[in-house]
Amino acid sequence: MHHPVDILGLAPDELIAVCDQWGQKPFRARQLLRWMHQRGEADFSRMTDLAKGFRERLSEQALVRAPEVLRDHCSADGTRKWLLDVGAGNAVETVFIPEVSRGTLCVSTQAGCAVNCRFCSTGHQGFARNLTAHEIIGQLWLAQRAIERDGVQGDVPTDLPAEEVVEAHDAGPRARAITNVVFMGMGEPLQNYGATLSALRLMLDDHAYGLSRRRVTVSTSGVVPMIDRLREDCPVALAVSLHAPTDALRDSLVPLNRKYPLAELMSACLRYLEKAPRDFITFEYVMLDAINDSPEHAEQLLALTRRVPCKFNLIPFNPFPASGLHKSPADRVRAFARLLSDGGKVTTVRRTRGDDIDAACGQLAGEVRDRTRVGERIQRRVVHLARA
Ligand code: SAH
Ligand code: SF4
Repeated sequence: MHHPVDILGLAPDELIAVCDQWGQKPFRARQLLRWMHQRGEADFSRMTDLAKGFRERLSEQALVRAPEVLRDHCSADGTRKWLLDVGAGNAVETVFIPEVSRGTLCVSTQAGCAVNCRFCSTGHQGFARNLTAHEIIGQLWLAQRAIERDGVQGDVPTDLPAEEVVEAHDAGPRARAITNVVFMGMGEPLQNYGATLSALRLMLDDHAYGLSRRRVTVSTSGVVPMIDRLREDCPVALAVSLHAPTDALRDSLVPLNRKYPLAELMSACLRYLEKAPRDFITFEYVMLDAINDSPEHAEQLLALTRRVPCKFNLIPFNPFPASGLHKSPADRVRAFARLLSDGGKVTTVRRTRGDDIDAACGQLAGEVRDRTRVGERIQRRVVHLARA
């Protein structure tokens, strides 16, 4: 007796291959994709346009299962955050961020992360394991189902100029749908390349989620060889977590920089742009008090990126005690942004969202992990006592 395979994470080609082994034509695989990903159906017996024999076979040999939801938080601004169980006391987060003109889902790719950036709560938790493709696409699958079921509650702030707001509201509940996906949750997607690629293919496939390449963004700390592979395999929008304009500083903030220093990273960005769906790279830059936020750093950044078509996204640091770091004061962030835009680079400052449901991304999962471990210890003790 085989274990049933979770087919939720199979990329379209992989599902076609599996269906072929079951003696089914490729259009059956596409029907299955639509049932699972567009209609959110997990029960094969309800997939009424598939032959009964095939449905029975699926029920025996396959399953559709997303990670289990441990917690489901809604914020006053409409942001919704799920904490998902991925086994062995590990949890990951998925966040939905509605705006008037779009809805963005932020997904995780690993439990923990091996890159260990100094300012990152996920990094501080260490690396537990890669998520599978079904655990990654499962985040989109369950978020879409939940949002379709519940709508979006809360006071969604507008991201549009005032004159367009009325129109957007009139146009209906656009903010209810997931229109964009960003790989900015826990983990380094390019250190879990295979599963990330399968999930990306499903996100883009017209029979599954049908998102445009421009609306799916992979964020990386700079795994240079994998940036090149993504460019060949599945070019989507790219965000690079820069955080420092010099190798000396970046070595200390993003340890991966010792392996792939800035000059190599900039070249990889230029190569990526040859095939990218957008004509710029987004550079993310966490603003850390007295570490990387001086006018001189801004000048150095402009020099570093002179040849690279790019935009800057300045991120207010989400502090957590173990980091020993502090957020830059707002006026310094403004001055920094001004210098970059005066230097000719489009620069935005990220708005913090969902403040009331918890702090830094990765923190909630870290807390749960500790508590789960405590929980497991207590449970073991209880069992032990019961046996004694
Ligand atoms: N590993 C990938 C994607 C996940 S991190 C990467 O590093 O790009 C997503 C973004 O959150 C990155 O830009 C990261 O630098 C940022 N980030 C991590 N910890 C943060 C914190 N404490 N406050 C603000 N941003 C943080
Ligand atoms: Fe990993 Fe990204 Fe956090 Fe760095 S910032 S530790 S790469 S998740």
